[in-house]
Amino acid sequence: MAENLNLFTSTQVVIQEALNKLGYDEGMFELLKEPLRMLEVRIPIKMDDGLVKVFTGYRAQHNDAVGPTKGGVRFHPQVTEDEMKALSMWMTLKCGIVDLPYGGAKGGVICDPRQMSMNEIEKLSRGYVRAISQFVGPTKDIPAPDVFTNSQIMAWMMDEYSRMDEFNSPGFITGKPIVLGGSQGRDRATAQGVTICVEEAAKKRGIDMKGARVVIQGFGNAGSFLAKFMSDAGAKVIGISDAYGALHDPNGLDIDYLLDRRDSFGTVTTLFENTISNKELLELDCDILVPAAIENQITSENAHKIRATIVVEAANGPTTSEATKILTERGILLVPDVLASAGGVTVSYFEWVQNNQGYYWTEEEVNEKLYKKMIDAFENVFTVSTTRNIDMRLAAYMVGVRKTAEASRFRGWV
Ligand code: GLU
Repeated sequence: MAENLNLFTSTQVVIQEALNKLGYDEGMFELLKEPLRMLEVRIPIKMDDGLVKVFTGYRAQHNDAVGPTKGGVRFHPQVTEDEMKALSMWMTLKCGIVDLPYGGAKGGVICDPRQMSMNEIEKLSRGYVRAISQFVGPTKDIPAPDVFTNSQIMAWMMDEYSRMDEFNSPGFITGKPIVLGGSQGRDRATAQGVTICVEEAAKKRGIDMKGARVVIQGFGNAGSFLAKFMSDAGAKVIGISDAYGALHDPNGLDIDYLLDRRDSFGTVTTLFENTISNKELLELDCDILVPAAIENQITSENAHKIRATIVVEAANGPTTSEATKILTERGILLVPDVLASAGGVTVSYFEWVQNNQGYYWTEEEVNEKLYKKMIDAFENVFTVSTTRNIDMRLAAYMVGVRKTAEASRFRGWV
């Protein structure tokens, strides 16, 4: 049978397995197998050349039994309805794993911001908010950054919402610039969370972070901060990549130099002649491999060739179900996306709490709270995985889905 590369259907399979193991019946799976609400919108934008282009956007709200839904908005040419559904379900799992009072959501617009001017991106950001405004809000559904969206885009979106709402609504969206009510530490939160998972996984496998050989696929928000944190921790980052290629140096790359030269979309390899492919990068001999780019990177094709001891998923969905099985059978410790990348939404939650109370925390306070959430989550998932003798992904799904399932049951939905 061909490998299932559809994120939505492969997520459903694991959710069903997790619910079965937790003792829920088919009715619970029927409720949780797809989002409660899925909005598709068309957004007309007058482009810089004067012509109108109509963009398609989505917002998927998986389940709001626990509380308002939460999740990022991506601007990417490959956004699809199925991807939105899967990503909204993963947000439910992430919020459950780090124990936040939210359900999951996700949004996206089919577009390529790399080919658009700032003016066009601003119009699209505002147009998207107008299109989904009835559907979202600080106590309903709270957007945030995701692939190719950033704090500037969040600022435009918040401004548009505030204009419609006629009052200042910082809690409408997270990942904002600090001066508009953003939280200290939000920009690096995903990478911080991944770093904590890498360090914990390294302890479990007896790997000393000093001198550990790390390979990171992707040099966007998560990948670039992570490279910095890893090299600051004394690890040797021997490989990094972007969408166009990868760099490899067995003695360790000069991360500060690369960070200095990357553009805002994380592109840096185009400046070099001696590059390798992303495929070769994944198969490098290393201790820790962090896929921090896009989906379906480790599949049944290359899972046998992975030479890392630990794989920590900073991207959403980089490893297929079959590859998860192969890696686990080979004794590789796989820390799944829904756990490893939960640092972003955790600090988004802190941002929303600070907006609601109007009192702001220092970076140390934020980091301390994030650290506690991530360590508890890692230990929880690791314990379920070892005591039940199941892979870390299934364990994470069990931990992640439980709160929403319980809340849905108490509400009498199932
Ligand atoms: N887009 C991020 C994620 O996938 C963050 C979501 C948020 O902060 O709400 O986890």
